[in-house]
Amino acid sequence: MVAPDSPWGAANASRHGSGVRRFAAAAESRRCDVCWPFVGPVTEIDSALTGVDREKVEAHERVHAAQCRRMGAMRNFLVRLTGRQRLPYEVEAICAEVPLELARGVPRAQLEQRIVDELSESMWYRRLGAVALREGIRRGCPPLTTSSL
Ligand SMILES: [Zn+2]
Repeated sequence: MVAPDSPWGAANASRHGSGVRRFAAAAESRRCDVCWPFVGPVTEIDSALTGVDREKVEAHERVHAAQCRRMGAMRNFLVRLTGRQRLPYEVEAICAEVPLELARGVPRAQLEQRIVDELSESMWYRRLGAVALREGIRRGCPPLTTSSL
């Protein structure tokens, strides 16, 4: 199921579907999550997704679900109205995937660049520019910048 507001879009997902699994794009295009008032987070993940790719999406969505419960639906909606406000929350979710990528042996620098590139393609974040995205990622995802994992 594709999130209707997905910044990655179906065309983006299919363009990269046969190649190396993209990072955040995989999470954004293989799930549908909504933060409902009074109900809380509702997440659906594509049942065809398996293995580490599924674990990454689940880790990513667990963070968004926790954000929904922590903030409530209204605040969750309001902080996601602009890319600049939205970025720390997306970085927090992406960061939950990082240990799985590092365990695959993906070098930190390559991983960080991939995240910057993918966010740069998103309608939400492209106007922020690569420098601001990189700063946001480094600020919000210490496992990417330390060697402690
Ligand atoms: Zn996300």
